[in-house]
Parts: sequence; structure tokens; C-alpha cells
Amino acid sequence: MTHVVILGGGPGGYEAALVARKAGAQVTLIERHGLGGNAVLTDVVPSKTVIATAEWRTIAERAPELGIVGDAGPASLRVDLGAVNARVKSLVERQSGDIEARVTGEGVRVVRGEGRLVGPLTLAVGDEEITADAVLLALGARPRVLDSAMPDGERILSWNDLYTLEELPEHLIVVGSGVTGAEFAGAYRLLGSEVTLIASHDRVLPREDPEASAMLTQVFKDRGMTLVGGRAAAARREGDGVVVTLEDGREVAGSHVLMAVGSIPNTEGLGLEEAGIALDERGYIKVDRVSRTSVAGVYAAGDCTGVLPLASVAASQGRIAMAHVLGDAVHPLELATVSSTVFTAPEIATVGASEAELRERGIFYRVERLDLARNPRAKMLGIDQGFVKIFGHTVTGLVLGAVIVGSRASEHIFALSLAVANHLTVDQVADAFTVYPSLSGTTGEVARRLHGIRESDPQGV
Ligand SMILES: Cc1cc2nc3c(=O)[nH]c(=O)nc-3n(C[C@H](O)[C@H](O)[C@H](O)COP(=O)(O)OP(=O)(O)OC[C@H]3O[C@@H](n4cnc5c(N)ncnc54)[C@H](O)[C@@H]3O)c2cc1C
Repeated sequence: MTHVVILGGGPGGYEAALVARKAGAQVTLIERHGLGGNAVLTDVVPSKTVIATAEWRTIAERAPELGIVGDAGPASLRVDLGAVNARVKSLVERQSGDIEARVTGEGVRVVRGEGRLVGPLTLAVGDEEITADAVLLALGARPRVLDSAMPDGERILSWNDLYTLEELPEHLIVVGSGVTGAEFAGAYRLLGSEVTLIASHDRVLPREDPEASAMLTQVFKDRGMTLVGGRAAAARREGDGVVVTLEDGREVAGSHVLMAVGSIPNTEGLGLEEAGIALDERGYIKVDRVSRTSVAGVYAAGDCTGVLPLASVAASQGRIAMAHVLGDAVHPLELATVSSTVFTAPEIATVGASEAELRERGIFYRVERLDLARNPRAKMLGIDQGFVKIFGHTVTGLVLGAVIVGSRASEHIFALSLAVANHLTVDQVADAFTVYPSLSGTTGEVARRLHGIRESDPQGV
């Protein structure tokens, strides 16, 4: 029986453990904190739980428009952050416990503790040494910190510190306008904090579809968020609050600051390099599309590889590694089909190629878009923001990529995800029934607008 040892119990690790058990392997999973990894303990689950409260506030604000009235009115609602964070804690524990029960129930041996490599296929945890036929490293990453803005857990915060807050920050400064910065800035503004977002680019979410990020930038401004252009150099406590200094010398004062300036991989001090495992210059483990490292029998998955920091990609890399080890059919990682969402309100969901990539690669494409505000279901639900945009190939008619901005875009993108993953054409999407009335009706309509693109003049490049 093949013995697989997995170091790290996040989505990269625990999904692989389940797949390997199903394929009949003996599996040992080493985890120092809790099952589910950072995805469950500090990153995805806690952040999306807080964001759920923020989203319900936007719905509550629409109450009068929907005919729901009361003497106090929606303005009387306020957020009890202590209660929100208590809910986060219980949800995190439940989710981590559910994963542990599943994994152990399937026969995976879970070893608690800090593991390290003492040979390419041998790991040490405490006094125990475990030798395996194959090793999967799914070590994850942690928040990057700046020496000049060290988190103190009280006022200068990393995202791990947010869930200990009992009261809403009066004025939260968020440093970083990537996905994490934008999600927290948006959520805390909706929860009721004054928020200043320091963005080093001219728009929030510079890597997203320009139209989507422009829309979100405007939404943030309309909600009263202050956007400051510039790069933060340092943060210090001063009196009851914090002061953030920008590289050009300007200062921004607030009650708390959240540093969301990226992540670094958990790859140092574990004997990786000694075992011959190649890391890149930023410390990420180098892997190929089937998750192999530079050492035979050692695989890596997830945030420690720097391939794409998403729980879904981590899980996919882990599953692929196990298929490769255990002789199952292997489908190498296909980043061109990944879907992801920025969980702001509205959400920004994308799949496949972006317009910038299509242009860069010189691909002939046509794009169609429609505002969700025209959709009858959106009108009924009081949704007036967002759009659906699809990129179709002008030679083959294939769906190359899509962007959906709107409430629950993370759910609606799945149809287009299926289209991209299964090489469907815009006509095949258009021919599938959508429910009337439904928000996904707009997806069908946009696909119909792309009908005939094969006959039209290529517009891409
Ligand atoms: C705030 C935030 C929000 C996010 N939201 C989303 C989202 O909505 N959707 C999404 O897809 N992605 C999201 N992500 C990204 C997602 O969290 C990561 O991509 C995902 O956690 C990666 O999974 P992983 O298995 O590689 O690592 P992790 O989840 O980090 O798990 C790694 C595990 O390995 C353990 N470990 C490390 N070293 C050792 C050792 N030596 N011994 C024992 N155990 C060890 C750690 O304790 C940890 O439990 C978010 C990230 C952040 C920061």
C-alpha cells in the first residue's frame, strides 16, 4: 500500500488526503493548528462570515424600497462586532471540526504538531519520524509584515487580528488595494466604520477587469470611503490611534490600521532546501502543472507554491498530485479555466481569460455586456448594480472568459465556468434554458448577443 504523508491541513492538504484515501493509499496528515488550515481558521471562512453580515446590511438598507417599514427604520440598525466575531469563531470551529471528522472518518491518520523534512521522504514531528512513499507539502502562507508597521494585535492589525476586535474601529485605515484590502475595506465601511483605503495604484483592484474595478471604486466613494493614492511606508501608534506615513511624507490618521500587503510562504526552516527542493527567489516551492517539486516523490500544493492563491486552486493542485502519485488519470492544472470572486458588495466574479490577456495574446475575440439593472428579477430584488460580460472567440465561437459583477456573482459565474472548462460555444450557452425571471437570464441574453460572432469581422487585435 502506498504511504502518503501530507504536511499541512489546509485545502491543499486535506482534499489530497481524501482523494488519496479513496484511491486506497495509507495517509498521514500533519497539522500544527487546525484542520482546514488558514483557509478555514483565518482567511476564507472568517472573512466571508464578516462579509455576510456586511452584505445583509445592504439588504436592510433597501427595506423601505421593498415595502418593509418600521418605526425605528433601517438607520437604527447597528453592528455589534463582538457578536459578529463570536459567530466567526463558532463557525470556524464548526467547519474545522467537520473537516477533521470527515478526514479521520475516511481513515486518515492525523498527527498534531509542527512537521519538518529530515530527508526527502522522511518527516519528523516531535519525537516521531515518518517515512513515506510520497510527500505532499501544503504549507500555506502568512501575512507579509513590514518592519516599519509591525502588527501589535490592537491598533496595527494583520487580517488575523481582526477577529479579536470587540468593537467596530471608529476609523479603519486599510493599506493595500488588492483583493484582501478591498474586501475588508468594503465590509468595514458597510459595518459602520469610517474607512480610508490607501491604494498604490490609481484604482482599487488593479488586476481585475478595468470596468469592474472602476465600478467598485465608484461604489466605495459613494458609500463614503476615502481613497488615498500612494504607498504606505510606515504605521505607528499615536495616542489612542494610529498614523500611517506614506512614502511621499503625507500622513493619514485613524483609530486602527489593517495591513493587507500580501503574503509570504511558510517554507523556511523546514529542511526543504537541505532535501534538495528548489524554491524561487521569493521562497515559493517550484512546481510543475502536476504539482511535482524538483525532488522525485515530493509534491507541493497551494499557497506555498505561489501559483495562484486560491483555496480552489490549492485543492486542485493537491488532487492532481495524488492522481499522479497513485496512478489515476492526471489532468494537469489549467489556470485558464479558474474562476474566482472578489467578495465585495457587489461581488466581482471572473472566469477564464481577461480582456487584457486576450489582447496581449493577440486572440480574436468579441465582447458583449449587459447591465443587470435591466434584468426583471434584479428589478424585483432591488438590485441596480452590476453587469454580465462574456468574451467569445471570433473564429470558433468558444466562450473564452467572462466577468460578472453583482450580488452573488460568485454563484452566477458557475454556468460560464462550465462553458469555459468544457469548451462550449456562445451558442451552446445561449441555447440552454434560463429560468424566467432570474438573474442568470442576463447571462443567456449576453450569450445570445454574441450569436453570429464567427461571421463578423475579428475585432480583437
Ligand atoms: C483574508 C483572505 C481571504 C481569502 N479568501 C479567499 C476566498 O474567498 N476564496 C479563495 O479561494 N481563497 C481565498 N483566500 C486564499 C486562501 O485562503 C488560500 O489560497 C488557501 O488557504 C490556500 O490553501 P493551502 O492549503 O495552500 O494553505 P493554508 O490554508 O494556509 O493551510 C496550510 C496549513 O499548513 C499548516 N502548516 C504549515 N507549516 C506546517 C508545519 N511545518 N507543520 C504542520 N503544519 C504546518 C498550517 O498550520 C496551515 O494549517 C483568502 C486569503 C486571505 C488572506
